[in-house]
Amino acid sequence: MFKAILIDKTDNGQQATLETLDEARLPDGDVTVRVECSTLNYKDALAITGKGSVVREFPMVPGIDLAGTVEASSHPDYRPGDAVVLNGWGVGEKHWGGLAEKARLSGDWLIPRPAAFNARQCMAIGTAGYTAMLSVMALERQGVTPESGEILVTGASGGVGSYAITLLNRLGYAVVASTGRPEEADYLKSLGAQELIDRRTLSDPGRPLARERWAGAVDAVGSYTLANVLAATRYGGAVAACGLAQGMDLPATVAPFILRGVTLAGIDSVMQPREVRLEAWRRLGELLPAESLDAITRTIGLDEAIAQADELLAGRVRGRLVVTLD
Ligand code: NDP
Repeated sequence: MFKAILIDKTDNGQQATLETLDEARLPDGDVTVRVECSTLNYKDALAITGKGSVVREFPMVPGIDLAGTVEASSHPDYRPGDAVVLNGWGVGEKHWGGLAEKARLSGDWLIPRPAAFNARQCMAIGTAGYTAMLSVMALERQGVTPESGEILVTGASGGVGSYAITLLNRLGYAVVASTGRPEEADYLKSLGAQELIDRRTLSDPGRPLARERWAGAVDAVGSYTLANVLAATRYGGAVAACGLAQGMDLPATVAPFILRGVTLAGIDSVMQPREVRLEAWRRLGELLPAESLDAITRTIGLDEAIAQADELLAGRVRGRLVVTLD
């Protein structure tokens, strides 16, 4: 038997409850993992609350991230006792996920746990930190260097934003953080933001082109915010678009692209090939001292995850929530 959060359909939509399940109910897969830690991402909060159409099959165990130890494996790369990490691949959306004491899934989706981190630290990073790393790598690919100028991070107090600030700062970039939470100024500055701007200055319709300011940006917010960030991006700059906290829409014009040669780089963490994942995690191991993760992270139990999903969607969670399972 194992404990899990289970989301099931009800007459009124869906409901998430903490359940004790028989292992026979685990889905097919060639690796069984004893989950040590998971985490609560924005997508997990959407799945648990039913506020976004994240769950594709019911009943579903949410949790797009997990870190744990292999218990049984018929996959050639993994043996019992191996430490592993999983991010994405549709886990927690169409295959039972990490907010449970056990998971059974395809070994092709796993990576060995990076030597730099323990299970809790991997989940402190989770999809949010790994997505921030992918976003920074995208800016690097577009030739944005610390010498290029200021980099804007939107959704700054959230998981992706917190890691984007930390990583950019460690790489020597000048980082400006856009936030709706002025009370988090000390926190954001401690991560490495040199300046803060009020997110309301970006969240309403703006002009197609604005004064050129940003050499690059990591945008976790979408909608008008992303349109305004593009409009203020300097000639030849690049913006990594990874989120939709304000909205899925992009009410922008092509002016920044055709008049300033701005690049909009799309970031998807879910289906990234294995080599890119390994490279992103290698860079995370290089750039994030394990002790820096504690400042960004709060730990909760599985029994608190359902309530915290509402808090996260209400924008009241700072940084990252790790869920411990042992
Ligand atoms: P969090 O909830 O931790 O952070 C989101 C942040 O966005 C909030 O902390 C808040 O920052 C800001 N925000 C919230 N609501 C609004 C709003 N209405 N207008 C403007 N800003 C807002 O989420 P994550 O950091 O985990 O994820 C951020 C986004 O990235 C999500 O949309 C998520 O779905 C997406 N994502 C995408 C991935 C991919 O593969 N592309 C992977 C991971 C996440 P503040 O209070 O500082 O303003």
